[in-house]
Amino acid sequence: MDYQARRDKLRRMLNKLDVDAALVTHFPNVTYLTGFTGDDSFLLLRRDGEVLLSDGRYVTQLQEECPGLDLHIRATGTGINQAIVRTLRAAGVGRLAVEGDSMTVGQRDRLAEKLPKLRIVVASGLVERLRQIKDKEEIAEIRRAIWYAERAFGAIRAAWRSEQTEKDLADELDHQFRRFGARGASFPPIVAAGARAALPHATPTRQTLDRAELVLVDWGAEGWLYKSDLTRVLLTAKISPKLRRIYEVVLRAQTRAIAAVRPGVTGAEVDAVARRVIAEAGFGRRFGHGLGHGLGLEVHEAPRLSAKDTTVLRPGMVITIEPGIYLPGWGGVRLEDDVLVTRGGREVLSSAPKQLEEMIVG
Ligand code: ZN
Ligand code: ZN
Repeated sequence: MDYQARRDKLRRMLNKLDVDAALVTHFPNVTYLTGFTGDDSFLLLRRDGEVLLSDGRYVTQLQEECPGLDLHIRATGTGINQAIVRTLRAAGVGRLAVEGDSMTVGQRDRLAEKLPKLRIVVASGLVERLRQIKDKEEIAEIRRAIWYAERAFGAIRAAWRSEQTEKDLADELDHQFRRFGARGASFPPIVAAGARAALPHATPTRQTLDRAELVLVDWGAEGWLYKSDLTRVLLTAKISPKLRRIYEVVLRAQTRAIAAVRPGVTGAEVDAVARRVIAEAGFGRRFGHGLGHGLGLEVHEAPRLSAKDTTVLRPGMVITIEPGIYLPGWGGVRLEDDVLVTRGGREVLSSAPKQLEEMIVG
């Protein structure tokens, strides 16, 4: 990964903002710009260089992960906020961009108090904007994270036992990710049986899977640093006409939305394609979330695909497409795949089966 090139891109953004430096406090952004994977560390990027503020616990890791990068290792007993003040003072920074979505009010107040002449410019989403466009290595990492997720899902399907609980299945997924070589889950897996599938963010319970008609599984693996995010609905009994109808509407909405992904369209336009299919089938009010989101170092990152999203899709973006229909008291169906925007349109990176008949287990 070319961290220097990424930092230079951010530096060009500093010129436009008319600031001397940016303080990167959101850890995934620090990782993106330096390769350092620990936390409790901030990057101060100046027009003429940069310095990573960290502490003694990370010295060896820093030497391995970002050789050559200027470091400011704070002494034991010196807090990170104190280290920031010292570094800013030493560098003579007059105007500083900070990450408004990550810096705390306390940190900002402290800077203002200790450096009364410092002009603080609250910026939002600078590094996140760069992170939207993935390079070759990042795409390879995401493909690997998807591979782990799909292998793990295949394994839990193969070992399906209907007396398992939602929690058993979630724990088993977690275990399988690691067994196949992933670092772990990219988020705690959602396993929701029957009516619980109507809750888009259900946490797994001790409920067994045996009497539910459907089990919604939303899961993803973290390969090394990059994440995957998928959703499938497993069917445990004879398929009822209601389930068939809802499943087919969601699959059609997802298929059409994926086909609409190409450079130049906005997130809102792709969202509208799925929403129209669901509304025309009479379930418009039962699709209560955005269509999808960017995926990378974080499981939810820019861009967001929603009814109001004006982001124009560009080659290199990796997004999820995940329409759903949720009926309280009955359950829900959501299908989620990971999609790369390419010059010619799109490539669906995930490939777990999703035709209705393929979803039957047990
Ligand atoms: Zn998901
Ligand atoms: Zn998602």
